Amino acid sequence: MNDTPEQPQENPTALLDLVGRHLVRKSRPLSFDPVVEAVFQTDTATERNRQTIVAGLFALVFFNGFIIIDAITRPEILGMSVLVRLCIVTPLCLAALFWLRRAPPQWIRDSVLTCCAILIAVGSNYLLHIATSTEAHYSAFSFGLIVIGANIVLHIGFNAALATTIGCCVVTAFFLHATPDLNWSERNLPVYYMAAMGVITLVANYRLEGNLRHAYLLMLRERLNAQEVRRINEQLNAYSYTDALTGIANRRRFEQFLQVAWTEALVSGETMSLLVIDVDFFKRYNDSFGHPAGDACLQQVARAIEGQTRGDNDLPARLGGEEFAVLLRHTETIQATSAASRIHRAMSQLGLSHGRPDGNGHVTVSIGLASATPRHDGSSAGELVEAADKALYQAKRRGRNRTILADRAA
Ligand code: GH3
Ligand code: MG
Ligand code: MG
Repeated sequence: MNDTPEQPQENPTALLDLVGRHLVRKSRPLSFDPVVEAVFQTDTATERNRQTIVAGLFALVFFNGFIIIDAITRPEILGMSVLVRLCIVTPLCLAALFWLRRAPPQWIRDSVLTCCAILIAVGSNYLLHIATSTEAHYSAFSFGLIVIGANIVLHIGFNAALATTIGCCVVTAFFLHATPDLNWSERNLPVYYMAAMGVITLVANYRLEGNLRHAYLLMLRERLNAQEVRRINEQLNAYSYTDALTGIANRRRFEQFLQVAWTEALVSGETMSLLVIDVDFFKRYNDSFGHPAGDACLQQVARAIEGQTRGDNDLPARLGGEEFAVLLRHTETIQATSAASRIHRAMSQLGLSHGRPDGNGHVTVSIGLASATPRHDGSSAGELVEAADKALYQAKRRGRNRTILADRAA
């Protein structure tokens, strides 16, 4: 026995309920309940990664653009600048961005981006550390750009943004304290400003993520509602084409199928056949056993007829009362005759007692069979039905429990 509970992903109503509960909450947390979170991650991962890769490439262009500034303001480190920026940091970050195309889970993606941001901070700080001009150290303020880039532009998760901010502050503080000949302000103010910028961008990151998640919930609710409406419509559609008592196709479905099959056969030139089936002496069956037993009998007759059909090619239907039909596409008279024989045999095997001393002992059916090869000569599907009906009438007149082949259809 399988005790696994139904997963809400497979059950839109349960998922819709969870989404509704998230939406009524006043707070906007940065994670959903595990089921909604999994759907969120699946739906947004590709777009997030795409945006991250684009933003990351821009960040690298920006980072390498500092080579020009290095060439102008601190030519003594130009060689090292090219080495660190273009030969070490850029290839590593490019490899990380390229790998992001595999759409890893969010925490891995965020950890990789945090490492890239800290690597850029280490590279930039190192270059300033080895520069001889003291003005260069004012550029330490620019490290805040790394934090802004990671926390807002790359839009990494809040925890990773926090780690990036702390990591960049620590790296900057380390290099500034390791640099000789700096006064107190030169050593500490950059870190202070960077931390302040970090706090502001973390707040922005938090709000951005909260708003993005809220907008996603609204969108998901709309999508699930639309799915539900579509499902109900499909269900109603199916009901409107199904016979309530027997579960097989009803007259409406039969007529629709007949028209489609007729039009197809007009093109293909193939022959189709129709069996119109009526339960013999059914009124007396009802009289003997009661209406509910009559209903149960009709259900069994429907199953027996259905059991003799071939998948999508044939359509068994209940036309009303105790009258059934089977439309057999791509079927010549000879094959249709054997299908009718199988139905008589199935009824006999069913052995539903009729309770009538003058009958066959069990419930039987009479069948009218007509075949037609549709042509563009004005003949219609209605003529096929008429021919089968006439043949059924003959079967009744000639003693019932038999199949009579129509003289001519189309
Ligand atoms: P014949 O062999 O000439 O077809 O005789 P018959 O008694 O089957 O035909 P008749 O048309 O006289 O009676 C049909 C009966 O089918 C009458 C009606 O009570 C019964 N019937 C029609 N629909 C249903 C149904 O949904 N449930 C039940 N239990 N009986 C039904
Ligand atoms: Mg009847
Ligand atoms: Mg009848």
